[in-house]
Amino acid sequence: MTKPVLNVDARQFLSDLHIDGSWREGANGERFDVLNPATEEVLASVASAEIADADAALDAAEAAFGEWASRTPRARSEILRKCWELMTARLDEFATLITLENGKAGNDARGEAAYAAEFFRWFAEEAVRADGLITRAPASGARIIVQHKPAGIAVLVTPWNYPAAMGTRKIAPALAAGCPVIIKPASETPLTMLALMPLLEEAGVPKGLVNVLPSKKSGALVDHLLHDPRVRVVSFTGSTQVGRKLLHSAADQVLKPAMELGGNAPLIVFDDADLDTAVEGAMLAKMRNLGEACTAANRFYVHESVAGEFAEKLTASMAALKLGNGLEPDVDVGPLVNADTRDKVAAFVRDAIAKGADLLLGGTVPDGPGFFYPPTVLTNVPETADCVHDEIFGPVAALQTFSDTEDVIRRANDTEYGLVAYVFTEDMKRGLQVCERLDYGMVGLNRGLVSDPAAPFGGTKQSGLGREGGHEGMLEFMETQYISASW
Ligand code: NAD
Repeated sequence: MTKPVLNVDARQFLSDLHIDGSWREGANGERFDVLNPATEEVLASVASAEIADADAALDAAEAAFGEWASRTPRARSEILRKCWELMTARLDEFATLITLENGKAGNDARGEAAYAAEFFRWFAEEAVRADGLITRAPASGARIIVQHKPAGIAVLVTPWNYPAAMGTRKIAPALAAGCPVIIKPASETPLTMLALMPLLEEAGVPKGLVNVLPSKKSGALVDHLLHDPRVRVVSFTGSTQVGRKLLHSAADQVLKPAMELGGNAPLIVFDDADLDTAVEGAMLAKMRNLGEACTAANRFYVHESVAGEFAEKLTASMAALKLGNGLEPDVDVGPLVNADTRDKVAAFVRDAIAKGADLLLGGTVPDGPGFFYPPTVLTNVPETADCVHDEIFGPVAALQTFSDTEDVIRRANDTEYGLVAYVFTEDMKRGLQVCERLDYGMVGLNRGLVSDPAAPFGGTKQSGLGREGGHEGMLEFMETQYISASW
C-alpha cells in the first residue's frame, strides 16, 4: 500500500519505524505518544525502536552502502536535487506538521521547512565538489594523492527544536558524501522526519540508505548503534550534557564525531549601533523559534548610553507579538515544546527577579491548555542570575549594560560555550576587531541570523566539534586518504 506523503489536514501521520524502505512496528510493539504542545492533545502514537530494530537498520544500511558509494557524485547530486524540489513543493504541508508537533508558529515553521529543504540543494551542489590533490613530495619526488572517501554508516541524533532542519542538515551531506544513515529523531517531534521518507523514496534514494528510528529508549538504542563495528560516524545535535555522553560512547570505536551542542550567545549593542537594526537583529536572534534555538541570544549587553532606548524599542517589538496556536494565521509565536521547557523558563525569570532584575514585559504563565510562555523582557539582570550562565531556551530577553569594550569582550567570552555571538555597531573596524576577539564559532555582525546552508555552522569550546553546512559539512562524513605513488 502506498502511504500518504503528507496528509496533515486529515491528521494522518506516518508513525511506524522506517527501516530498509519499509514501515514497521517496533520489535516489542511498544509505542509512545506525540503531543501537540498548543493543545496538549495526542497527535499520534509512534512506534518505539528497540535493539533488534537498530540491528535491522544497521543491516539495511550496510547493504545499501556499497552501491550508493560507488555511484558517481553527479548521480548522487541529481537525487539530492530532486529531494530539494519535492520538499520545496510541499513546504506548506511540512510547515503545518512542524507547527503541530513542535508548536512554532506559521512564519517560523515555513522558514524552517525552506531552510531544511535548502540543505538538499546545497549538498546536491557540493556532492560534485569533493576536491582532492595530486602533488610531488618535496624530497622524494613521489606523487602525493589525497582524496576523500565516504566514511561509512552514520548515526544521526537530532533535537526537537528544528524537527526538519536538524535532520536534513545531516542527511543531505551524508548522502552527498556517499554514506548511509540511521537517524533517531527527538521523541517530542519524530513525525516530520518520518514524513520526509516517502519524498526521499520518490526522489530515488535507494531503500536502506536512510532509516528512521524514533524511540523512547534513546540512551540504550544509540549506545548500541555506536558500539556496532559497522558504524563510523556519529553526528549529534542537542544538549552538551548528552553530547558528552555520546562522545564517551564514540570513544570505544574511535568514531568520527560531529557535535552541535548548546550555546549561551551574547548580543552586544555598542553606543554607535543603529538601534532599529539592533532591535530587528535582537528580535530575530531572540524570538526566532521562540528562543528555543542554540543560536538564541541569551545575554544582551547594551552600552549604558543607549540601554534605555534599546530596552524601550525591544519591549515594544516583543509586546506586539501575538501568542497563540501557531496554526492560526495571525499568531506570531506559539507554545514552548513541553511543560518541562516552560517550567524551566519560568524558573529562570523568577530567579533573575529574586536577584534584582526588573521585569518590563511578560513573566506570567497564561491559563489554559498548551505550554505557553509570553515574550518577556528583563533589565538590570545581575551577573549572578542563572539565565546569564545557562541556556534559557525560551522567549526571555535578559538585558545588562556595559561601558567599556574590554569589559564587554571579557564578559561575552566568560562561558564554557562558544557557538554564536552577535555584535551591533556602525563602526566596521571596531566591529570586526571585536568579532575576532570573541571565542565563538560564528558571529553575526549587524545581523541576528547566521544560519545558512552555504556557511559552516558550529561552535567552539563546549558548544561542539565539527561544522554543518558549507564546504565543511560534507567532509564530516568523509575520510581523507593519502596515496604515495611512484610512476
Ligand atoms: P537533548 O540533548 O536532550 O536531546 C537531543 C537528542 O538526543 C534527542 O533525540 C534525544 O532523544 C536524544 N537523547 C537524549 N538522551 C540521550 C542519550 N542518553 N543517548 C542518546 N541520545 C539521547 O537536547 P534537546 O532538549 O532535544 O535539544 C535542546 C538542546 O539542543 C539545547 O541545548 C540546544 O542548544 C541544543 N541544540 C544545538 C544545536 C546546534 O546546532 N548547536 C541546534 C539545536 C539544538
